Amino acid sequence: MIMRSRVFQSVHMGTRVALAMLVGLVAFFGDRRAEAYQILPKVSDVDRELSWRGNRSWMETGSQLVMGIGVPLLKGPIHEAITLAALGCDIPAGEEGRCVTKANVLANRVVLYGVRWPDDPPFRLDAARSSTLKKCDVRVTVRSTAQPDCWMMLFKDAGRLAKQGGRNAPAFGPGTMLLYRSHYGDLQFMHSMAAFDGEPASQTRANMQTWAKYLWGIAIGATRTDVFIRDAQPEMAPFFPGDMTSINLFATGIVEVRKRLPEVAFGALLHMVQDSFSRAHTTRTEATGGSCPGLPGVDAPGRIEQFHGYAHQDGALHDEQDTEESLGLHTLQEAPSVVDVSRHLVTLWRKKASWDEVQPYIACVFDVVDGHTPAGPGPFKKA
Ligand SMILES: [Zn+2]
Repeated sequence: MIMRSRVFQSVHMGTRVALAMLVGLVAFFGDRRAEAYQILPKVSDVDRELSWRGNRSWMETGSQLVMGIGVPLLKGPIHEAITLAALGCDIPAGEEGRCVTKANVLANRVVLYGVRWPDDPPFRLDAARSSTLKKCDVRVTVRSTAQPDCWMMLFKDAGRLAKQGGRNAPAFGPGTMLLYRSHYGDLQFMHSMAAFDGEPASQTRANMQTWAKYLWGIAIGATRTDVFIRDAQPEMAPFFPGDMTSINLFATGIVEVRKRLPEVAFGALLHMVQDSFSRAHTTRTEATGGSCPGLPGVDAPGRIEQFHGYAHQDGALHDEQDTEESLGLHTLQEAPSVVDVSRHLVTLWRKKASWDEVQPYIACVFDVVDGHTPAGPGPFKKA
């Protein structure tokens, strides 16, 4: 999960907004790398265009600077670096961040849109709730880049509500806005996280495998994207029981990716796989050096001991795990690394391997030590 608390803690206090913007601007003009990073959040300038047309364009533009420039610079585009390395950017282990160049990003922008999608899925506002949403324009699809103030307000609201619940169930489910569900509700498996503290590892893993199967079907063009998700893939019906197609899910308001959903879906799969290697998302054992069951010669990663949940984590500590430095340490010291695993999936995707062929590898990557282990905040619990 990218773009987390650091922004949120600051943006809602006036003086710190100015400070964050200043940091963003200084970084933008003072650091050449900004050239590469500033284009990352967008599949195109559609979001920006929309926000100018929305009725709070002035304010939004200021916030966009913070979100679009300040944040990626502070946080580093980790998913993008891993993905570009896996797609063929030839760089020594530990230096994946150097893959994030403007040329590489432009050449792979739709896959990268998919990689970013679970963090920032575009969605329409819930009309019933919109009367309370002062910072939101109900006519414009919400993404962090299109309506940043609105996005942050909703994200904060979701976090507040999720923390209130001590229930043994997801805080949000079908019928709630996608942003709430993907970060704090039943869809947290998109990030290799549990839907609630206490969820058994076997359940989180089963949801992840269902999601992986669905995404793979789209990624190789085997699953229709213009029919309701519940019909295209019945196992997904509990999560999307309504009249929503895959095109609706992945491309609401972002017309230009509609015809390229295979790349988007593959990117979303990489996101989940990559998150599963973050210490904020799971605790893994060390890799044994052995192969995946039934796949001789294919290195097995360490098994998952516990899934974590985000609601009771310290956002800043969570974010620290998703930095370039953490990635460098990981890829230098682990085999297979998150880049190796992503690269193996790229190979399978490029040859359009069937789900039957891919499933054993996914099962190996998401293998758990004990399916009964309940999820918890892990080592990053809020003090
Ligand atoms: Zn994530």
